[in-house]
Amino acid sequence: MKKVILVRYGEIMLKGLNRPVFESALMRNIKHSLSGLGKTAIRCSQARIYIEPGQDDFDFEGAVSRLTKVLGIVSVSIVWKVASDFEEIKKYSAEMVREYISKPGRITAKASAGGPGASDGTFRFKVETKRGNKRFPMESPEISRQLGGYLLKSVPGLKVDVNDPDFVFFVEVREHTYLYCDIIPAFGGLPVGTSGKGMLLLSGGIDSPVAGWMMAKRGMEIEAVHFHTYPYTSERARDKVITLAKIMAQYCRRIRLHIVPFTEIQLGINDRCPQEYLTILMRRAMMMISEKIAAQNGAIALITGESLGQVASQTAEAMAVTNNAVSMPVFRPLIGMDKNEVVEIARKIDTYETSILPYEDCCTVFVAKHPRTKPKLEEAQEYESRLDLEEMIERAIRDTETMTIGD
Ligand code: ATP
Ligand code: MG
Repeated sequence: MKKVILVRYGEIMLKGLNRPVFESALMRNIKHSLSGLGKTAIRCSQARIYIEPGQDDFDFEGAVSRLTKVLGIVSVSIVWKVASDFEEIKKYSAEMVREYISKPGRITAKASAGGPGASDGTFRFKVETKRGNKRFPMESPEISRQLGGYLLKSVPGLKVDVNDPDFVFFVEVREHTYLYCDIIPAFGGLPVGTSGKGMLLLSGGIDSPVAGWMMAKRGMEIEAVHFHTYPYTSERARDKVITLAKIMAQYCRRIRLHIVPFTEIQLGINDRCPQEYLTILMRRAMMMISEKIAAQNGAIALITGESLGQVASQTAEAMAVTNNAVSMPVFRPLIGMDKNEVVEIARKIDTYETSILPYEDCCTVFVAKHPRTKPKLEEAQEYESRLDLEEMIERAIRDTETMTIGD
């Protein structure tokens, strides 16, 4: 018997001729995520990936927690790999089930939460068999039936319940046979690196990390720009963004983060343009700078955390004026989402607690009392022409600090 990790992936299978490209990207990302955990052999076969550790003290739990963050993976199981021989399958199944029900964990929790099961000292279970290996002499229902009967006899404290089991014992008969009790869900999506590179405008808020993560989940490699208005915003605001990038890098392999000094532009706009246009002009300048940095770094789209109508600068009219500042496509994956839906994702991906730390970002420092909800492009352009925007943008890009996070 050998303990291995079974990785399932979904959508990649649909990609026809491109499938090998997606599979090799996923394999590469898996290898990267496991680095530091010791030697492993990673093998892809029949739309599954098998990870076999090269050492006995391999940290399976740690590996699983990293793998569930690799985008493109649908679910993961720690499985026992045994010979495709029914005697052997029976022996190890009993051992595995005995070990599984003796561990305080999911099933006990379910039982104590009022579900069926251990309250009467027994665990209800069923066996589910998949037979990919047609040379194996028994058919799936027969394997399930016979193995179920055997487990019932040889492991105390079990009861068969096919309708509402406390746990399912899975048997997959292939070249080898794989046994497992748990399927740990991951996020699905496509492997990072298969959909080009996007430049994320990363503030310290709740929305933009979620927006970047959503595009990463569709396979984009993510690079990020952050605008910093030192000394109006603190070093801690900057550190917070670096922390967010670190959390995101767990999903995105690595993130290059460009920190752009934005103070001169902010002050310029503040001094020379009407209050009601502050935010929109600032957003246009951010877009222009981001587009330049994107082009320099091979990104093909900009990504923001905007959501329609959330604030004055995110009305359809305001976004039209913002978009006009650039020609690159702007992806806004949160456009149709409510705040609570975004918060839910932020919690799931672990950025929420960092995002709500109270350090100001540049948008809250220079905030107009009555921003225009329906700005006009010609007016925005007219006010912009009062500034030496091009030179200021050049200086901001020249003084940008770039760091790589997560490698
Ligand atoms: P977030 O929660 O992402 O900060 P928000 O709801 O606070 O979003 P705004 O402050 O209007 O909304 O910003 C809208 C979008 O503009 C953000 O999602 C982000 O993509 C970008 N953005 C705002 N401020 C910055 C900044 N300082 N650096 C980089 N991008 C920014
Ligand atoms: Mg914000």
